Amino acid sequence: MSNQLFTNVSIFDGSGKKPFAGEVLVQGNRIKKVARGKTKIRRNGAKVIDCGGATLLPGFVDCHAHLAYCDTATLFALGDIPPEENQLLAMHNAKLYMDHGITAAVSAASSKPRTDIVLRNEINSGRIPGPRLRASTPQFVTTGGPWDANQMHMEHGSFEIVADGPVEFRKKVREMIREGVDIVKLAISGDAFIEHTPEHAHSYSEDEIAAACEVAHSRGKRLAAHCRADASIRAAIKHGITFIHHAEHATTRTLDLLEKNKSKHYVCPAIGIIYATLYEGSDWGVDHEYAVAHRFDKTLQIAAKTTKEMFKRGIKVMPYGDYGFAWNPQGTNNRDLEHFVNLIGFTPAQTLMMATKWGGEAWAGSDPVEMGEVKEGYLADLIVIDGDPIKDITLFQDADNFLMVMKNGEYYKAPQRRRSGSRRQVVAAE
Ligand SMILES: [Zn+2]
Repeated sequence: MSNQLFTNVSIFDGSGKKPFAGEVLVQGNRIKKVARGKTKIRRNGAKVIDCGGATLLPGFVDCHAHLAYCDTATLFALGDIPPEENQLLAMHNAKLYMDHGITAAVSAASSKPRTDIVLRNEINSGRIPGPRLRASTPQFVTTGGPWDANQMHMEHGSFEIVADGPVEFRKKVREMIREGVDIVKLAISGDAFIEHTPEHAHSYSEDEIAAACEVAHSRGKRLAAHCRADASIRAAIKHGITFIHHAEHATTRTLDLLEKNKSKHYVCPAIGIIYATLYEGSDWGVDHEYAVAHRFDKTLQIAAKTTKEMFKRGIKVMPYGDYGFAWNPQGTNNRDLEHFVNLIGFTPAQTLMMATKWGGEAWAGSDPVEMGEVKEGYLADLIVIDGDPIKDITLFQDADNFLMVMKNGEYYKAPQRRRSGSRRQVVAAE
């Protein structure tokens, strides 16, 4: 593709600073030049795309993604979907991510051992569209841990991998690394609705976490953990688990510890699923009273407070997480941006910075990948949205508002005309 020059565009560069008018030149898969104000970038035969005053941003990065989750009402129902159907559904989900400008994702659990891996490989081959993907294992759980679906009279595997003791953890984590995962996911806390392992239960022994982490780290892989219980969060910090999900019940002592280690961790509270369970699950048998009886109203308050406190301490918190359930379906992921503003009280600019700059560095890890910012030399994962997202963070919820989606310098969605507002249209001209 020839060089692409985006002009007449308001640029949110990912830093969290105010958007500025300017121009952006893309050459190959990189951002070659960013100009501010009236400065013009030399055309030099580039294809000029007049964005009509729309806003250009880095593509979003979802660091608590479950592309293999298929909008079932329970996780056990997810387990019942055969691998072949599950793979195709995951492929459709990958497209939904791209439709909504999410151009990179760190998986926080697959549904079958190889679903994420195969999806990532197909996306990387260019045969199907999808975000840059860090592929995960299914959730590792211990016997009787959350989502262990076995019954005394019947072995019944679901969407998880059950392991017990350091020996079994070592073997099963090694197997998954052999299959090609990037991320090892441990469900070390329980969860609401699970009688035998509620959310405050820490469901791993010390030597099990140590064994899983030792194997993953020795092969250069990172880990993610489902952590609600305070003890689980502390264990995740102690053993160097990069992605600490939920983490709402962190005590002050644990927050102090996390703050001390803040350069090593990312926290995705997944606030959307708490909100949706509280208010939007009634069609699936989870009405408001039932959710309140399971303290979802309290959990929402605590999650908002803890997440805000983490941000104040410089701990990197990010939107997204746990889309892929019946009442929190795939494709609505960008509601989380609105939740971060309305439920937690972040500004739109802070929220967008987390979803781009922080997401980019979290995705990259120690790999030399520059992404998540509109910055010279960075990967050209870019979106153009019809309007001003600093004024209206909900714009990203409607795929039609995306006037352009680019990943790695290639158009997933070629530049479209603006739907309303400006008479200046997004048009391409030589
Ligand atoms: Zn999750």
